[in-house]
Amino acid sequence: MNLLASRPSLHMDGQDGLLFEGVPLQTIASQVGTPCWVTGAGTLRRRTRNLRKAFVERGLDVALHYALKANDHLATLTVLRQEGCGADVVSGGELRRAREAGIDPASIVFSGVGKTDAELTLALRENIGQINVESAEELHRLSRIASALGLTGRVALRVNPHIDAATHDKISTGRLGDKFGIDWADSAALYREASRLPGIEILGLATHIGSQILSPAPFKAAYARIAELVIGLRSEGLTVRSVDCGGGLGVRYRDELAPPPAALAGAIAETLGDLDLKLAIEPGRWIAAPAGVLLTSVIDLKAQREGVSDFVIVDAAMNDLARPSLYGAWHGIVPVAPDLAYAETVSQTVVGPVCESSDIFAKERQLPAVRPGDHLAILDTGAYGAVMSSTYNSRPLAAQVMIENGQWASIRPRQRVETLWTDESMPEWLDAE
Ligand SMILES: *Cc1c(COP(=O)(O)O)cnc(C)c1O
Repeated sequence: MNLLASRPSLHMDGQDGLLFEGVPLQTIASQVGTPCWVTGAGTLRRRTRNLRKAFVERGLDVALHYALKANDHLATLTVLRQEGCGADVVSGGELRRAREAGIDPASIVFSGVGKTDAELTLALRENIGQINVESAEELHRLSRIASALGLTGRVALRVNPHIDAATHDKISTGRLGDKFGIDWADSAALYREASRLPGIEILGLATHIGSQILSPAPFKAAYARIAELVIGLRSEGLTVRSVDCGGGLGVRYRDELAPPPAALAGAIAETLGDLDLKLAIEPGRWIAAPAGVLLTSVIDLKAQREGVSDFVIVDAAMNDLARPSLYGAWHGIVPVAPDLAYAETVSQTVVGPVCESSDIFAKERQLPAVRPGDHLAILDTGAYGAVMSSTYNSRPLAAQVMIENGQWASIRPRQRVETLWTDESMPEWLDAE
């Protein structure tokens, strides 16, 4: 129950069971079926406002560029656009999605280590606000493409500050040897060059050191390096107008001491706050993760011998929510029905039906003794949840619902199984009769 105590969007009601933003999840699970992603628009709004407030309180005017990859549903993007967010995109597809959601091109930033010529061309034609360049080669390629089109790319150099964000190896991006960004030691020379290249307008610097960062220290260390670079470049007479501070602020999934947004605002204020810069951040997870739950139903129980946790087999799987199998991520799991909320707990292992041993949502977890048909909510799945789904094992993509102010609506029906093979065709020689 202390899982719910630290999550203001969730409440257990003695009558209606688990409520998300006041909406009974039981109702959604029984009317839409499971697995089903539920996105709380109110939570998206509240968190965006809290984040903004933390910066305002430090006297900082910071642009919020929501990192689309965390949760890119058009309804999510529309809510965040209404809250004044721009977008951080990492592919041409995300760029087009951001435009489809009505996000102003001027507040779109394009990051990513492998932008194709076609993607750079799209970014130039859409006249987006900023392209974060990640290598000398990319800078030269962009210069050539822009010159040929007679257009100008507004550029920031993404610097790799060689800071260990002390997060999971697979989501760390700012260390020596990580594939992201321009080596910190080479950035000044490249900045100098960028200021002279045709088709390039150099705006400033960018960095992004990783995801699910749980301490302000790596942020502060990275931004201190960026501040040094800004000061050095300006002392050469170069113009540095902006710094994009990236994303990565962590959230509490289990019992982590996640830093409040004020800690990130503090790290930025203390390092970059007095340099008369246009500042931006690119939060993804912090805004979206607690704004989503994944509803699932118990298919069956599988008893194990004495001393070994029984298996609870649910109808969601690693193809829906990949994080536990991909990163060993921990997600809270709460029964939806009110009578289970206060029942005694036993150690159980919650698994999906996919034919992979890594298809485990929770290992030896204390949970009430559930029965087949019971609904469970997997918490904090609003970021890097539905966006990472696949159709492995020919499992159609799960349904999606959005809630706000006590209302709920389908925002994506469960995929029809036939659509899984509609684009498949046979080579003529198979003579498939
Ligand atoms: C993934 C990513 C983000 C968002 O990271 P979160 O941890 O979700 O805040 C921001 N900027 C860039 C360049 C990214 O690749």
